[in-house]
Amino acid sequence: MSNITEKLHAEYQKLYNKPAENAFFSPGRVNLIGEHIDYNGGLVMPCAITFGTYLLVSPNNEGVFRFKSLNFDDHYTIPVNESYQKEDTIWINYPKGVIQHFKNDGHEVSGLDMLYFGNIPIGSGLSSSASIEVVTAFALNYLFNAGYTKLQLVLLSKWVENVFIGLASGIMDQFAVAFGEENKALMLNCETLDYKAVDSNLGEYVLAIINTNKLRKLAESKYNERVQECQAALKELQQELDIKNLCDIDTATFNQHKHLITDATVLKRAQHVVEENDRVKLAADALSKNNLAEFGRLMYASHNSLRELYEVSGKELDAVVEYSKTNPNVAGARMTGAGFGGCAIALVKGSAFDTFAKELNEYYTAKVGYAPDVYSSLIGDGVGLLKAVAEHA
Ligand code: ADP
Ligand code: MG
Repeated sequence: MSNITEKLHAEYQKLYNKPAENAFFSPGRVNLIGEHIDYNGGLVMPCAITFGTYLLVSPNNEGVFRFKSLNFDDHYTIPVNESYQKEDTIWINYPKGVIQHFKNDGHEVSGLDMLYFGNIPIGSGLSSSASIEVVTAFALNYLFNAGYTKLQLVLLSKWVENVFIGLASGIMDQFAVAFGEENKALMLNCETLDYKAVDSNLGEYVLAIINTNKLRKLAESKYNERVQECQAALKELQQELDIKNLCDIDTATFNQHKHLITDATVLKRAQHVVEENDRVKLAADALSKNNLAEFGRLMYASHNSLRELYEVSGKELDAVVEYSKTNPNVAGARMTGAGFGGCAIALVKGSAFDTFAKELNEYYTAKVGYAPDVYSSLIGDGVGLLKAVAEHA
């Protein structure tokens, strides 16, 4: 990390002719297990990854915010004393939304010169958007002494995504990038926000993140369809059960009442949801006991269920899992995120990662016709001050 921060420091100096006084980092995230159940009152289990968004910043006395991201060619200067709206699809909508929320809450803000850099692949489902929102919110909170709690920063960032930008999404992403901790997964109920940090020491394993490079075109329409199917299942189960969400019951109870569900497709969807929620609890138990073989088994089971019962996988995500099953140095693999493309994850022995990446690349390219990107990550910390740069400054 220090290599990157030193380079960014030099970039900052070159760009603004002064040193950056403060530097911050916010990670991206992956969901380890618990897929498509957040909207059924179920548990998700994301963790922060060691890739993310860096923000270097110093104040200016010129009454402007200057924005530059090394990930994009454009740069912007906007007056501090102005009300901001979303403009087109430019990337500064994200930081502008954050600043607007601070203003809406009555906080005084003043000029800043900002430099962003993200080493997360952008737009592939690792939540670079939550990362840039949360790093900006954390930095402003720190610099302007706004006094928000971490949870308030999460909610503020979610507001930026949902209202300022206008994308419907749950709270998991912002929560994970803010509350993540090194070697801990977060078992989270997205409705109640109850969460537990689960010890997740990966030992000799690393988390391989595989970007299928397949656009998630179908994801949104299929997502809405799945939400409706789950609601249909819930309604039928409610004839006998006093429940608010599908995840209020475990698999045993579900099996006693599943005859109420009349449509075979709806039945499959509900079965995935209930069983996946049980799998998250088993996964937390396995991780906290360092039983990575069992955790890996649950990852494969989760993928299988998403493929067969929930039908949100695809040949690209399946190819990653198929190859992983042939490699004895892989404990488990699964699609992560909404599906139909985006990313998969695998738990791979660190010493065997390079071979894994090479063989997977060959297998995948032969099956799919183009190459994936394969990254090695650990479970990292959530948003914070970058100490390496603070020392450097
Ligand atoms: P993801 O799955 O990565 O969250 P999104 O489409 O939700 O994909 O968000 C990606 C958008 O977030 C980018 O198009 C850009 O506007 C903004 N963004 C993310 N990271 C950066 C960055 N490092 N610099 C500038 N903008 C960023
Ligand atoms: Mg996003």
